[in-house]
Amino acid sequence: INWYPGHMVKARREIEENIKLVDIVLMLLDARAPLSCRNPDLEKIVSRKKLIFILNKMDLAAPAATRQHQKMLQQDGYSVVAMDSSSGKGAKDVVQAIKDAYAEQADRLVQKGRRVRSPRVMVVGVPNVGKSTFLNCLVGQKIARTGAKPGITRGKQWIRVREDVEFMDTPGLMWPKVEDVEQGLKLALLDIVGENAYSEEEVALYLIRTLQEKAPQVIFTKYKVEVGQQSEQEILAAIAQKRGYLNKGGIPDSEKTCHLLLQDYRRGNLGKISLD
Ligand code: GDP
Repeated sequence: INWYPGHMVKARREIEENIKLVDIVLMLLDARAPLSCRNPDLEKIVSRKKLIFILNKMDLAAPAATRQHQKMLQQDGYSVVAMDSSSGKGAKDVVQAIKDAYAEQADRLVQKGRRVRSPRVMVVGVPNVGKSTFLNCLVGQKIARTGAKPGITRGKQWIRVREDVEFMDTPGLMWPKVEDVEQGLKLALLDIVGENAYSEEEVALYLIRTLQEKAPQVIFTKYKVEVGQQSEQEILAAIAQKRGYLNKGGIPDSEKTCHLLLQDYRRGNLGKISLD
């Protein structure tokens, strides 16, 4: 998605409208770079509701970094749950966090002598953070569409999940607030911002830099390239050589090699490496 003002206005309005229909907002962040996925302006819109941060794709993130992010966000007063939507790890914690967040509101309803209905929840997040996968994971086999409720839901579909939680079936699309070049590169590496904004080569060189810093051994174990004092470009060329990714005349095919690197990182083939 290439965000331009028209899109942003429409997406923001959609979130504003839908937020009115729910009790709780689950904001998915990529566990590898949760802070980079945030957007304080959009968080302000949802702050009237209970907000729970989900650090999704925890299976791809460095566990110590995830624990640290969790602690940091909790210290800021947020409810935070780490989740792997591809395996379902953390799903129980998510349901519990929703119940906890709803408890106060449920108590108030009881005190007023009103019926306590199921909590209604909306999932929001930047592109590719795993919103659809997360929803499918929580809903699982127990999918039960409660149907559009005219006048109340304006055509929205609600999906009832285990333990009486209702999810809005369409997640809300957010965009990150990009403050600097490095954050942009992280988001590009995570496939959250499109390649129109960054070239694959730029992102791959950033990845090599990150690996040099955080996990230099991976460059050797994965690509059989010894890392010493070379530049990122030299490492890229060496990886191309080892792989036999060469153009006519034996020139390293940098395009193909960059693509390989990005794919390997995104799929978790390089191990659990966090960026924030
Ligand atoms: P959306 O654009 O936010 O709805 O994201 P999708 O649900 O389409 O997911 C984007 C990609 O991330 C897909 O290839 C998913 O399989 C993958 N994905 C989603 N959640 C997880 C997760 O927790 N772990 C891993 N490893 N992959 C995930």
